[in-house]
Amino acid sequence: MTYVIAQPCVDLKDKACIEECPVDCIYEGERALYIHPDECVDCGACEPVCPVEAIFYEDDTPEQWKDYYKANVEFFDDLGSPGGASKMGLIAKDHPLIAALPPQATGE
Ligand code: SF4
Ligand code: SF4
Repeated sequence: MTYVIAQPCVDLKDKACIEECPVDCIYEGERALYIHPDECVDCGACEPVCPVEAIFYEDDTPEQWKDYYKANVEFFDDLGSPGGASKMGLIAKDHPLIAALPPQATGE
């Protein structure tokens, strides 16, 4: 089990969640952030601080965003387990699901 970042993060990326994660497992892509499914320790600290409620416990991910579980997992297919997001910085890619989205209104 893991936590998942879903669509509301896309094109917003305010990164409040990164500050809270005790294991530094929230990685930054071009248009969204991604939680490493194996590095996440399910502490739940990130979930309440997200201003747009983009973070869900895997089983609680709303039906329309269920695919984001796969997006968070597959984002790391070619990265493996880097063991820390801060040293990676911005990773110059997105999962195809997210890359294909039209620009998202960020509520501003
Ligand atoms: S706090 Fe929410 S919107 Fe901000 S980067 Fe994290 S998941 Fe994305
Ligand atoms: S649940 Fe905890 S370990 Fe997992 S991403 Fe959120 S803050 Fe990090």
